[in-house]
Amino acid sequence: MILTITYTKPPATDLGYLLYKNPSRPQTFSLNHGKAHIFYPEATKERCTVVLLLDIDPIDLARGKKGFSGDGGLFDYVNDRPYVASSFLSVAMSRVFGTAMSGKCKDKPELAEMELPLQAKIMMLPCKGGEEIIYRLFEPLGYKVTVEGYMLDEKFPEWGQSRYYTVSLEGEVRLQDLLNHIYVLIPVLDSEKHYWVGEDEIDKLLQHGEGWLANHPEKGLITGRYLKRKKSLVNQALKRLLEESGVTDDEDEQEESSQQEENEKKLNLNQQRLGTVVAVLKSVNAKRVIDIGCGEGKLISLLLKDKSFEQITGVDVSYSVLERAKDRLKLDRLPEMQRKRINLFQGSLLYRDKRFSGYDAATVIEVIEHLDENRLKAFEKVLFKFARPQTVIVSTPNKEYNLHYQNLFEGDVRHRDHRFEWTREEFETWAVKVAGNYGYNVRFVQIGEDDDQFGSPTQMGVFTL
Ligand code: SAH
Repeated sequence: MILTITYTKPPATDLGYLLYKNPSRPQTFSLNHGKAHIFYPEATKERCTVVLLLDIDPIDLARGKKGFSGDGGLFDYVNDRPYVASSFLSVAMSRVFGTAMSGKCKDKPELAEMELPLQAKIMMLPCKGGEEIIYRLFEPLGYKVTVEGYMLDEKFPEWGQSRYYTVSLEGEVRLQDLLNHIYVLIPVLDSEKHYWVGEDEIDKLLQHGEGWLANHPEKGLITGRYLKRKKSLVNQALKRLLEESGVTDDEDEQEESSQQEENEKKLNLNQQRLGTVVAVLKSVNAKRVIDIGCGEGKLISLLLKDKSFEQITGVDVSYSVLERAKDRLKLDRLPEMQRKRINLFQGSLLYRDKRFSGYDAATVIEVIEHLDENRLKAFEKVLFKFARPQTVIVSTPNKEYNLHYQNLFEGDVRHRDHRFEWTREEFETWAVKVAGNYGYNVRFVQIGEDDDQFGSPTQMGVFTL
């Protein structure tokens, strides 16, 4: 696997000083399970790129010097580890770029402190949970993120996409921050580690996360995955992060919280769900978005903050809910330019409506479970046949996960107004059928804490024409 870092401010060869690696001298470092090679494919005044090429020895790995299943099965020999960016790459980074990661630079200390125009490219990054997570993790850190996906096998397109991506990051950052972001987030995206995770991992996470993790909107996900969801470690880490961010009170809005919100609060699921929706919308470059069943307009207010969404429309069947949305969005007080981007109207997704047409994307978030199951057919036609946006995002609770909520028993639903709740299989069967009927492709995203057996609390289908 390969990591490249490119610096573009003349004299770009300063990158060599920052990394303590001479551009004219390739070097090789021996690691536990292979070798790390450092070289510069380009080193001019305008542009300088360093490559970290990690060459893992699969046999060495399998013989189990450290890590891996250790049961000697075929998996030990046939797996993706030698070919993908994983915790092995993070370990290699700290070995070869350790000084730069700590922010030291003997020859040009002022450069190490400066935000510089830098690009990084991580090739073959395994990503558990779909490419949206890549955006959710890197965009809040200020990067322009580009993601390239791969098919499992070009000869068999029906097998679908693989879970490997090439990720490019571009931004004005300190080199030390760029390296630390990548160091922490690679194993988070991969959701694996090749070594035992104990208490010392908390210190490592907090050290490399200093200055950015405490206020990252996905710090729960990052901490959870980095510490391999070991509850006691995760709790300790989150507590220390909270101290670092200086927030002591839970500042969650104290609005009338419904039963569902009460149940989901501890995960802050709503925020994660909406964050994912925004990330998906951005990844498909949607400019005109209609949110059907918009409720109080939480998604709309998020979209409003991002200039790339030019037209944002909210629809709900309930008049009083729309009134509350207007208040929340402070519609009357918005400057003209902002006001013009928003349109709210009362309507039902069970009836064909011309006003639903002409959008790049439609979102239907936590709404279908409020419909009678026998009315779903009407909804399918209204949206997929007549409105027919390029992208449709539908989310709904995953019933299997309900057993995690202390006050829910088997067979209960999360909210008294839910007419039904589906297992992952039920939702996916429905979605694949709808996609097939109307000529869409569909892929699935799980949102929230991920349980090996029961999946995540929210499931989402992303349909594209
Ligand atoms: N999407 C919002 C709200 C979800 S609650 C969020 O994620 O926070 C479900 C919303 O769907 C409610 O506001 C309800 O009024 C609306 N709704 C229910 N049936 C509807 C229908 N037939 N057409 C449009 N909206 C509907």
